Amino acid sequence: MSVVTRFAPSPTGHLHVGNLRTALMNFLIARKAGGTFILRLDDTDAERSTVAFADAIQEDLAWLGLAWDRVERQSARLDRYAAAAARLRAAGRLYEAFESPAELELKRKKLLTMGRPPVYDRASLALDDAQKAARRAASPGYWRFLLDQTRIEWTDGVLGPLSIDAGSISDPVLIRADGQVLYTFASVVDDIEMGVTHVVRGADHVTNTATQIQIMRALGGVPPAFAHHSLLTGAGGEALSKRLGTLSLRDLRARGVEPMALLSLMARLGSSRPVEPARSLDELAAGFDIASFGAAPTKFDAEDLWPLNRAWLAGLDHSAVAGRLEAMGVPAADVAAFWEAMRANISRFDDLAAWWAICRDGAEPAVAPEDRAFVDTALTLLPPRPWGPETWGEWTGRVKAATGRKGRALFAPLRAALTGRDSGPEMAALMPLLRRVAAAA
Ligand code: GLU
Repeated sequence: MSVVTRFAPSPTGHLHVGNLRTALMNFLIARKAGGTFILRLDDTDAERSTVAFADAIQEDLAWLGLAWDRVERQSARLDRYAAAAARLRAAGRLYEAFESPAELELKRKKLLTMGRPPVYDRASLALDDAQKAARRAASPGYWRFLLDQTRIEWTDGVLGPLSIDAGSISDPVLIRADGQVLYTFASVVDDIEMGVTHVVRGADHVTNTATQIQIMRALGGVPPAFAHHSLLTGAGGEALSKRLGTLSLRDLRARGVEPMALLSLMARLGSSRPVEPARSLDELAAGFDIASFGAAPTKFDAEDLWPLNRAWLAGLDHSAVAGRLEAMGVPAADVAAFWEAMRANISRFDDLAAWWAICRDGAEPAVAPEDRAFVDTALTLLPPRPWGPETWGEWTGRVKAATGRKGRALFAPLRAALTGRDSGPEMAALMPLLRRVAAAA
């Protein structure tokens, strides 16, 4: 049986790190098995779903390289849901209900007061045709799935064996009074008809899964393998939901996060395997095992991305970044040398713009008052152009001989004079790139 997974976001907002975890796990399972990865847009909520968000989701996934084999839109499959609903009705598993939210709330409170679980009492199921017609005349009915009140069991890919008493769950609403098909139902129909074999999603869906397994069986389908990953929390264990706006994929991208850094973290965070900087999605797929993930909430700290970003950038060949560097104004002839000098020294690619400006224009020198005379002397000893990789050694040798300084006292002020900074790439690699030395002007 060929593996089919899907990532099913609702296009009602931008993707964030929590969604990415779901997307990536489903992608990696399909990639590892040579299967199919479907992007499914859960857009039956016409009021909240927008084309702009659907486009943004696809852009974000494309940026990450999470290529989907095909895209499906629930809004284009309404006839399939209607057909499936008719089958459930015919089988006596879908019934019309009429209680308003206020009525339901009252029932809920009563049950809670009596110390009983707030499960819907199926009062609408007991109505006869005349009573239904009367209720319908007042306001149209909506449709609930009649749960079989047995235990629902499955072996979860992350949580292990689960057993949920269907008697503790209210019959889920599948179709609203205005005809809108709700996610629970649309998802089931899609998962069956699209041959989905593995569903990975957040632990907030566990109860949904219990009901969906019954709906799938009622439709004659075979439930896929389910795995529910833990939800992400902030670094301090706080709920992430309020901060998700700043943890959108586009926000991280704007902050200079490289796709493979983000993917490397998300493919291992919360698992028993170490986070390692991977070079490709195939490498991540080869090392991916859903069973290695734990059930406990997983802490996400965006700061953890920077060491991975550094490692990713340091491992890139200049040919991989030539286009980006040239777009930044680095002449093609300087790309290789500039990249070799810089690649192990940056957390964000965009930091290079400032370094290139230093090479091109010279830096505002940063010389401590007590070093001023020393630096002035040193600048008179700069070797003649052209400068090569040996220039730094030659120059500091001359300065050392002339001033008697050595070690840090020798090197640090010279670095600061030439770059305006107290740290950065190897000076030997940088000097040939320095077109101007402002301090010498
Ligand atoms: N649209 C649903 C969500 O974003 C999909 C859940 C699922 O994977 O079934 O929560």
